[in-house]
Amino acid sequence: MRRSPSTAVAALLGLLAACGGGSDGRGDDAGDGFGAGFGSGPCQVAFPAQASSPYVLPYAVGMSYVVGQGNCTDGSHSEDQQYAYDFDMPIGTTVVAARAGSVIQVEDRFAENNDTPGEENFIVIEHADGTVAGYYHLTQGGAAVALDATVAQGEAIGRSGNTGDSSEPHLHFEVLDQPGGDTLPVTFRNTRAHPEGLVEGESYEAGAS
Ligand SMILES: [Zn+2]
Repeated sequence: MRRSPSTAVAALLGLLAACGGGSDGRGDDAGDGFGAGFGSGPCQVAFPAQASSPYVLPYAVGMSYVVGQGNCTDGSHSEDQQYAYDFDMPIGTTVVAARAGSVIQVEDRFAENNDTPGEENFIVIEHADGTVAGYYHLTQGGAAVALDATVAQGEAIGRSGNTGDSSEPHLHFEVLDQPGGDTLPVTFRNTRAHPEGLVEGESYEAGAS
């Protein structure tokens, strides 16, 4: 996804430009001698421990999807968006809350395949610690939760789509340090090991949390 420099304001206004879902612009994920689990992936940072992660994958248990664009890749997953993930999934796929919280933004009026930055559907959920998770490119009418609703982890919150600046159906998932803030590195406790974050091009099955 892509954003203007006025990220915070744009985010709060729901004027986000969205990401292309392609796999171009992949970062260099070669190890560089820093040691496994400590900054050897494309982001060059340590990711949070997976076992104690407060997050589960944002799709239903038993489902598996490919990471079409990973963290710290050129363009749409860089700078304040560097820790976003794109999961390739068909339009209409059930999206679940990766973490419990309250719904602070909902947009689902935009038409499918509009290919227009700023015209993506999305849900933003605020967590107890003030961080927020964003779920983007949802299908038209695809929000299953209302503004101010309280959602449980793993609860179905909507259906994926291909709205906004999106070149193929996918879910853009990100966690921000605060509403309109910067992305944070995240891991997911209900899937196989990913000490450097989920790897672009790999698929991850959501297990029971
Ligand atoms: Zn994205």
